[in-house]
Amino acid sequence: MVDYDVIVIGGGISGLMSALTLSKHGKKILVLEKNSVVGGNCNSYDVDGFQVDTGVHAITHLREGPLRRLMDEYFIYSPVFLEFGHYYARTEKGLTKLPSNIKEFVTFDVLPRKDRFMLSQVLTKALTQMTFGMLEGNQSVYDYLPNGLSKDTHDFVDAIAYSLSGKSMKYTSVNRVLYGSSFIRDSVSEDIFHNEQHTNTSYTSVITDTLSKYQLKSHFSAISRLATNRIAYAQAYPRGGLKSLLNAVLYSMPKTVQIKTGSRVKEIIFRDERVAGVAIDKEVFTANTVVYSGFVKDLPDLVSLPSDYIENISHIDQTLSLTIWLGLSEKIKEFDYIGSEIWFKDGAYWAMPISNYDSSIAPRDKQLIGFTFVIDDKKSLEGEKKRALDLIYRAIPGIESRTEMIHYQVTIPEKAAVTINGFIAGPRSPLSNLYLAGTDTDNRSMGVTRAAYSVLELLKAMREDKKL
Ligand SMILES: Cc1cc2nc3c(=O)[nH]c(=O)nc-3n(C[C@H](O)[C@H](O)[C@H](O)COP(=O)(O)OP(=O)(O)OC[C@H]3O[C@@H](n4cnc5c(N)ncnc54)[C@H](O)[C@@H]3O)c2cc1C
Repeated sequence: MVDYDVIVIGGGISGLMSALTLSKHGKKILVLEKNSVVGGNCNSYDVDGFQVDTGVHAITHLREGPLRRLMDEYFIYSPVFLEFGHYYARTEKGLTKLPSNIKEFVTFDVLPRKDRFMLSQVLTKALTQMTFGMLEGNQSVYDYLPNGLSKDTHDFVDAIAYSLSGKSMKYTSVNRVLYGSSFIRDSVSEDIFHNEQHTNTSYTSVITDTLSKYQLKSHFSAISRLATNRIAYAQAYPRGGLKSLLNAVLYSMPKTVQIKTGSRVKEIIFRDERVAGVAIDKEVFTANTVVYSGFVKDLPDLVSLPSDYIENISHIDQTLSLTIWLGLSEKIKEFDYIGSEIWFKDGAYWAMPISNYDSSIAPRDKQLIGFTFVIDDKKSLEGEKKRALDLIYRAIPGIESRTEMIHYQVTIPEKAAVTINGFIAGPRSPLSNLYLAGTDTDNRSMGVTRAAYSVLELLKAMREDKKL
């Protein structure tokens, strides 16, 4: 007799969505979270009257993507999503909308004209090669670019690569940029969802509609978008902040799910050739199945694994990010828009004026802006913070004197960067009864959308293994 059907290690959004979905398949569940609060990187909290999120967030693929499927089938409550707006590039001259089709690209005067011409040629070539299955899967963006581009253009492409894979263009594949950018929707295309809308709403249909069926079938639609695409894929910001998404999962959770915080799992118990439970300090909990949603690269600290698997997961690559939240004493004209911006010259940031979505996020008449940077973990953190703050002050002259709150967050946004030679774990571990969920188990899309893919794949694997 075991204590639980399933123990979920980690109470981030992946672990909680795993617990929610498995509980709706009749499982009795225990979630163990090492921190004093659940949510992991998907939460919000108060700093001097401003409500900051754990990093700046845009939730993607909301019309028909994996999170939408989970919300429709398993959530009782779902957040209200506010339209995301546009992506802009900021330069000394102000804001310019980022292009999402060739016509906009040609007039994107943030980059030199000659470079735009060369880049549009290379983009068309990449899409054409992809259409005919001739694009090498792991060719780097850096190697694919023509010679002779300016430093600004290199910096721009690098900033896009960082935002899509977590690493520079030397380690980012051309595929990743094509699928992740707004020129093509990634993995789940709208056309395919329209054609194959599931009419059976039982939970089983969510698992049996294998995701492979939703993989991009028509590259031709991708190439036609090059000319006609008007909007980036459906994305949004949750009203009330990122914690609204977390709360929606928690409110939807049935009583058969028990959540314990302040409970770091120190060992996964392996007995008689199978995983049988977990141990935290003095307590042991037994279960038929364990789902691990912490960093897969930390798994060898918890349980003995085959050496070839340890070798594979040692190739999981991660990126360290710094988010600086600035609470402004007044709303400023530079951030008078809905959406987000990138700065790419001699250093890059991605920024969002999140209180423009929901004024309750900042005190009355004030404004909250989040700026996220990739930082170098080999350099001093204090030096990186200073470099980042100086960049903001340089990019937006006058903001410093109107800043009344500065808050820093250092985080790892994705458990695995999607690099050319990086390893992605998948939902199964090599040990019987131990499954994996989270952003290092699926390489499609990014962030919460990627976490949602991982949960769908977990359900699918458990069903195939006759665990559901
Ligand atoms: C700066 C930044 C910007 C981002 N931008 C976006 C964005 O724009 N769009 C988007 O969709 N996503 C974005 N993300 C990513 C998104 O927040 C994450 O992908 C998502 O929250 C990851 O969820 P997770 O559950 O997989 O991992 P985590 O949030 O890391 O959760 C894992 C949990 O497991 C717990 N844990 C680990 N080990 C143990 C153990 N041994 N015992 C018990 N508990 C354990 C951890 O404490 C943690 O709570 C961003 C993230 C950051 C940091």
